[in-house]
Amino acid sequence: MKRIGVLTSGGDAPGMNACIRAIVKAAKANNIETLGVYEGYKGLMEGKMEVLTANYVDDIIELSGTILKSARSAKFKTEEGLKLAVEQAQKHGIEGLVVIGGDGSFRGACDVSKFGLPVIGIPGTIDNDIAGTEYSIGADTAVNIVTDTVSKIHDTARSLIVDMPRVFLIEVMGRGCGYIAVTSAIAGGADYCLVPEIPYDVNEMCTHLKTKFENGKLYSVVIAAEGATGVNELKKQVDTILNIDSRTCVLGHLQRGGAPTAFDRLIASQMAVRAVELLMEGKTNRMVGVIAGKAVDCDIFKGINDKNKISQEIVRLNNILIS
Ligand code: ADP
Repeated sequence: MKRIGVLTSGGDAPGMNACIRAIVKAAKANNIETLGVYEGYKGLMEGKMEVLTANYVDDIIELSGTILKSARSAKFKTEEGLKLAVEQAQKHGIEGLVVIGGDGSFRGACDVSKFGLPVIGIPGTIDNDIAGTEYSIGADTAVNIVTDTVSKIHDTARSLIVDMPRVFLIEVMGRGCGYIAVTSAIAGGADYCLVPEIPYDVNEMCTHLKTKFENGKLYSVVIAAEGATGVNELKKQVDTILNIDSRTCVLGHLQRGGAPTAFDRLIASQMAVRAVELLMEGKTNRMVGVIAGKAVDCDIFKGINDKNKISQEIVRLNNILIS
């Protein structure tokens, strides 16, 4: 094997650059050249790629986002687009392709592999909802950002004394998976957490907050995953039930920026090295992950079809800690 390609696709996530860097270095250690494909599958179709040297990628480990840029391409999903992408890969001598992204990006990789090009997927999404791995690149950074936000809200909340209890409603990312919400609720010391996996009752939540106020607490922080509810809708209900004027905060894309945490850099590097090894072993349609600290791999269809849900253990822990 002389040359491999790497692209980032779909939603960007902090730590993708650390992953690109490690791919280039692992390939170089085996005398393999790495082509960086710009703008995901769109760039692959357009032949937008260049050789990445170890020297060039050496300092990108702390950069957030992705130096290769990411894109979403509808054309790639067509027969014509797929053919173009495969032709460009062949023209540029790519013998194996590493795709860093989510389940949509992995579907694209599978389509490419049907033309005989080996593909390996690396999970990169802050939602941490991809099965086959305990962690996806970017999730830890997002949790740290939310945790930091909760601390900042605590700072102001505990300082200002007002007549009525104050409630802060924070909306975080997570359409189908409450991982960011529940882990940052625990780490940030929130008073309640709403996740898409578990049905909730706003009346019950308000009773819980009211009890805390009656016991002397002056403010409360609620974290809601976007897949459970939007905080603007939640505010209407909470304000009516508790007869207060709660405050909302939608973190949105803030959660996708900032320097990747050491943990995200570490798992991104681990997964990258394993991905290059798999290509060298002649494997295809595999997804790399990290479980119990070790780099592992599974059928890429597991990453496409199955979803990680938050564990019962972490939910139980949160239920104890919000009391
Ligand atoms: P993510 O990888 O984060 O889930 P998307 O679902 O937006 O993000 O997918 C990223 C890109 O992967 C799409 O723009 C498209 O080019 C490609 N892709 C997504 N779904 C498919 C599919 N079913 N078949 C082929 N390619 C796909």
